[in-house]
Amino acid sequence: MKIAQYLEAARRLPIISREELTGDAPFVILSPHPDDETLGLGGLIAQARSAGQEVHVVVLTDGAGSHPNSIEYPPEKLIDLRKAEVRAAGEILGMDQACVHHLDLPDTKAPSEGPAFDEAVRFVSELLSRTGAKNLFVTWDQDPHCDHKAAAALAASVLNDNPVVHLWAYPIWGWHLDTEEHLPGEPRGYRVHIRSELTIKQKAIAAHASQMSSLIGDDPTGFRFTAETLAPFTTDYEYVFEIPA
Ligand SMILES: [Zn+2]
Repeated sequence: MKIAQYLEAARRLPIISREELTGDAPFVILSPHPDDETLGLGGLIAQARSAGQEVHVVVLTDGAGSHPNSIEYPPEKLIDLRKAEVRAAGEILGMDQACVHHLDLPDTKAPSEGPAFDEAVRFVSELLSRTGAKNLFVTWDQDPHCDHKAAAALAASVLNDNPVVHLWAYPIWGWHLDTEEHLPGEPRGYRVHIRSELTIKQKAIAAHASQMSSLIGDDPTGFRFTAETLAPFTTDYEYVFEIPA
């Protein structure tokens, strides 16, 4: 299917409530970078937290890759800043800060195999068992970003150890795939209506100021969202795709 049609079909996926999707049980979100959780599922997080549901976010990489040439924000300072942004966004969404976990893998170099990968798999597996989480959310394996693909591989590996957990994919950069290319199959999954949480979600997105504004102004190669790249994340819905077992 052409990607234009695939994404159009995704936008028409059936609506599911938070309760139906998560069974009102604890759930875990894998976020390759410090912001993907807010962009992809900030509305669901806010809904769940206002209902008293336990939500864990595991941030895989340190986020140091967004502004590699900044003098004002060398890697250590940028890592601290991005952690502070996740914290601020989490507070806005009602997250318990003890439920935000950082694995500090190197940005743009999240492993897809090897000891660091195995350790990350173990961490997430233990978190799922400890919390009794039944749902794991991860970025879509079609997202054209190496860390997002590594996160998807990690989640698939976690599922091997925890077959009772249901895995869902949330698209980030997949929304911006070349619409003329093709994807196999058709999208399966749901959308969650988050209009009531949209204002809170937008505030949480803005809390990732290094990615959303000119806060770091001394790296012309630095990353920054535009109105266009941000647009898929500020609608009334969030999307979760079924991962075939
Ligand atoms: Zn990302």
